[in-house]
Amino acid sequence: MDGKKVVVVGAGPVGSLAALYAASRGATVEVYELRDDLRNLETSPLNFTKSINLALSERGINALRSTGNDELVETVFQNTIPMHGRMIHTRSATGALTEQSQLYDVHGRYQRSVDRGVLNGVLLNYLDALPNVKIFFQHKLTGADFRKKEAWFEVMDRTDGSSSTRPKEIAVTFDFLIGADGAHSSTRFHLMKFARVNYQQEYIDCLWCEFTMPPTRSGDFAISPNHLHIWPAASFMFIALPSTDKSFVCTLFGPVDMFVKLESAPDAELVSFFDKHFPGVTSQLAPNDLIAQFKQHPHLPLINIKCSPHHFGDSVVILGDAANAMVPFYGQGMNAGMESVRVLFSKLDATPDRAQALANYTEERTKDAHVVADLALGNYTEMRSSVTSPLYKLRKYIEERLDKYVPSLGWATQYSRISFSNMRYSEVIKYSQRQKRILTALLLVVAAAAITGPVAAIWLYVLRHSRHRRRVLYLWVREVKW
Ligand code: FAD
Repeated sequence: MDGKKVVVVGAGPVGSLAALYAASRGATVEVYELRDDLRNLETSPLNFTKSINLALSERGINALRSTGNDELVETVFQNTIPMHGRMIHTRSATGALTEQSQLYDVHGRYQRSVDRGVLNGVLLNYLDALPNVKIFFQHKLTGADFRKKEAWFEVMDRTDGSSSTRPKEIAVTFDFLIGADGAHSSTRFHLMKFARVNYQQEYIDCLWCEFTMPPTRSGDFAISPNHLHIWPAASFMFIALPSTDKSFVCTLFGPVDMFVKLESAPDAELVSFFDKHFPGVTSQLAPNDLIAQFKQHPHLPLINIKCSPHHFGDSVVILGDAANAMVPFYGQGMNAGMESVRVLFSKLDATPDRAQALANYTEERTKDAHVVADLALGNYTEMRSSVTSPLYKLRKYIEERLDKYVPSLGWATQYSRISFSNMRYSEVIKYSQRQKRILTALLLVVAAAAITGPVAAIWLYVLRHSRHRRRVLYLWVREVKW
């Protein structure tokens, strides 16, 4: 990349990281971002179409670490709160509030809750400090010719004193363009005119709304700070992630119908809905606040996007949500996007032929991206309902014991492979399916033994004893109305 001009579209977490990677390889990097600098929070409030707090896990951390900048990783860590497991909030049969902690990992590995704006800000600060990087805010990609390697941006920035009401458009040439402009990617839209991109988009039947649970009056966390809290309610759920200011960022996820009903319900009904399904929440999040936040904060959809290929020639590649937006239930969207940056640059480093490197990247990454998108959909059921099921807990228990006490078996939960390893997503699913098959077979054997064991014991007993008893048993069996 030495001496090449790399244009990055989108300065979200994935675009910013990709710019750092390109800059560290000697490229001249220009980053174009639609919005204002998110570090000026007063002038540019956080984009409320994305949740404020995110779970950062191994794949994201590994991608940060692979920049080779330990100080950057440390700065990010200082702004995170460890979450060692899930805290499941339910009500017992007697109506008492119950909390059950389910640790994420038998080896003590954990997720980190991080403020999206802070993480993004740290990356932008490091970019700003590099002499070969320029960041242009309020620049919106409007068009691109990926054969001629030219892109067009609408400049919304009026700080140059221009009084024209017509937006200014600029043309930018490049050697290589990285599109990290989110789920509604303009880069992807233009890429589709050049490459034969298969594209699939799905809005799932779920909306989400964010709330803030403030610290207690004494300034402490209202609930345990080192957990990701879940109030499962079968077809919907409420979750809470800790923030460094001792508040919690909470999210209500539920079907569209449920939101529609709540939106038109009287205030008192919203509060009683929370009291019924999310025990204890209204003692920490005052009913008036709850109502106000539900009314003021947007109720947003969740989108799942799969497409392939992710590139065209040696000219352009799309990364992060632009290439594979997924529902947030595995906490992997950003982590996977950051991992994509690491994988992309490992392919670019491996061969000087960029077109070949991009083809290799698409070949490997689309498979993995599609797998994790499917897993994320499946994890919605796990979070809102399976976490309370005895069978789920039994499987987790057995898999964790095998992982801890018989490591030579190479057994691990799917969750720990996804969140705490860098194994390819497509490999993770293979291991999980194999483990599931073995466990199911074992459970069937145990169940069969439990049923046939006592019968066999009775027969053995009878056979060992008199002929008369055999005859009595035979007659008894014959008489029973099966
Ligand atoms: P974005 O963050 O969307 O950034 C794209 C950037 O491109 C934006 O800054 C945008 O302004 C800019 N842009 C857009 N169009 C243009 C244009 N035409 N020209 C120039 N710039 C443009 N992920 C996790 O890993 N862990 C979690 O716990 C997690 N929780 C989530 C919870 C919720 C409720 C949701 C909705 C998502 C969650 N995610 C999580 C997913 C995560 O938010 C995304 O995967 C991540 O933000 C993707 O980063 P990105 O940089 O690819 O895209």
